[in-house]
Amino acid sequence: MNRLSVKLAMYFLVMILVLEGLLMMYLHPSVGHARVEEEFARQLAAGKNHSAVLSDNFSEDTMHHIVLMESFSDRGVAIYDEEGSLLTRFNRSDINWDEVGAEIEGSEYTTDTLIQSDWKDEPFIVSAHPYIADSGEQGVLVLFQSTTSIHALMDKLNFHFLLAGIVSVLILGFVYMMLSRMLTRPLVRMKVATEKLSRGEFDVALPEKSNDELGELSIAIEKLAADLQEIRKNRSDFLSSISHELRTPLTYLAGYSKVALRPDLSAEEKANYLLIIKEETARLTDLIENLFELAKLDDPSFDVNIEAFAAEPFIQGLFHRLAPSFEESASTLTYQVEPGHVIEADPLRVEQIIVNLVDNARNYSEPGSTTHLSVQSLQGRTQIQVIDQGMGIPKKQQEAIFDRLYRLEKSRSRLHGGSGLGLTIVKELVEAHGGTINVESEPGKGSTFTVVV
Ligand code: ADP
Repeated sequence: MNRLSVKLAMYFLVMILVLEGLLMMYLHPSVGHARVEEEFARQLAAGKNHSAVLSDNFSEDTMHHIVLMESFSDRGVAIYDEEGSLLTRFNRSDINWDEVGAEIEGSEYTTDTLIQSDWKDEPFIVSAHPYIADSGEQGVLVLFQSTTSIHALMDKLNFHFLLAGIVSVLILGFVYMMLSRMLTRPLVRMKVATEKLSRGEFDVALPEKSNDELGELSIAIEKLAADLQEIRKNRSDFLSSISHELRTPLTYLAGYSKVALRPDLSAEEKANYLLIIKEETARLTDLIENLFELAKLDDPSFDVNIEAFAAEPFIQGLFHRLAPSFEESASTLTYQVEPGHVIEADPLRVEQIIVNLVDNARNYSEPGSTTHLSVQSLQGRTQIQVIDQGMGIPKKQQEAIFDRLYRLEKSRSRLHGGSGLGLTIVKELVEAHGGTINVESEPGKGSTFTVVV
C-alpha cells in the first residue's frame, strides 16, 4: 500500500469511480429517459396517423387496413366507437382486452393520450387516439406497443455503460503497470543505490538515464557516489600523509632530546640541541595550526566577512610587515597599488593570502632576487599578483602545488618550515570569496601567482 505506483493507481481508481458514478447518476438516466420519450413520441405519432386516416375515410376497409398494417409490427391495435364498443382489433392474445375495454368505456379522449406509460412493469405501453369522421362516426383508436423493444434498448444502454466501466478499469491496470515501470522501479533502484552508498559501497548501478527528473536524480546520485569515493580516498591519503608529517618532527624531537640529555655534553652543544628542539616544536605547532585552519575552511558553515577597504594603506601596512624578512635574506620586496582602488573582500583573509604567497616567493628564491606585489582592479574585482624571480615550478607540477601536503622539494620546503598546506589554504580562501587563483611559472626564471577576489 505504501508503493508510489499503488497510491497513484488508487487516486486514478477513485477518480474513475467518481467519474463513472457521476455518469451513472446523470448521464445514464437522462439518456435512458430520452430514448423512452422517443419511443412514446413515435407511438403517439403512429396512433395519430391512424386516427387521422380514420377521420378522413371512416370505413370497414380503412379499419381493416390499419389492423393489417399493425399486424406486421410488435404493436397491437383496437378501434372503439362512441359508446366504447369494440369495432375491430388485431387479435393479440397477450393483451387483456377486457381491461382495455373498461378503461375506454370509462374515459373520454379529446386528444392523443398515453394511457399506459409504465414500460418497466407492464408488457405494453398503450395510447388512445380519438377520431371523428365527416360522416359523423367517432370513437377511439387504441394502440399497443410491446415494451420488450424498450427493455432491449435499455439493456443495450446498460451494456455500453458496463463496457465503458470495464475499459476504464483495464486502462487503470495499464496505467498502474506503466507507472510502476516508469516511476517505482527506478526509484527503488535508486533507494537501493543510496543504501549501498551509506554502507560505503560506491559501485552503484543505476537505471539508464531518462531525460526527466528521474534521470537527473540518477545522475545526481552517481555524482554523489563518485564524490564520496573521492572524499574517502582523499581522506585516507591525507591521513597517511599527516601521520607521516607528524612523525618526522616527533622523531627529531625524540632524537635530539635524548642527545641533549647526555651528561657528557658541553653547555654550548646542549644549547644547540635545545635550539633544534625549539625549531622543530615551532614547525609542529605551525603544521597543527595549518591543519586547524584547513579544518575550519572545510566546515560548510565557514564564511568570509566581506567589506570594502582602501587598497593603498592596507598593502602599505603589509609591506612594512613583510619587507624585513626580505632584507634578512638580502632580497627585495617591491609593491604597486592602483591609486584609490577599493578592495571588496575579507581583509583578514586577503592578508593571509598575500602573506602566504609572498613568503613562498621569498622561500623559493635565491638571495638577491626581487619579489613584486601588485594590486589593481579587474572588471570590478581585485587582482593580486605576486611575481618572483625564484626557482619556478615545472609545468607538470603547477596544478599539484595546491593539493594538501604537496611539496616540490621536501628538503627545501622543510628548510623553512613548510608543510605543504600553505597554497591549499590560500586556494580555499580565494574560493571562499568566489575568486580564482592560478600560477604561471618557468623553472629557473620565476613564478607569478595571480589571485582575483
Ligand atoms: P610549503 O609550506 O611547502 O611552502 P605550499 O603549499 O605553500 O607549501 O607550497 C607547495 C609547494 O609549492 C612548495 O613546497 C613549493 O615546492 C612550491 N611553491 C610554492 N610557491 C612557490 C614559488 N613561489 N616558487 C617556487 N615553488 C613554489
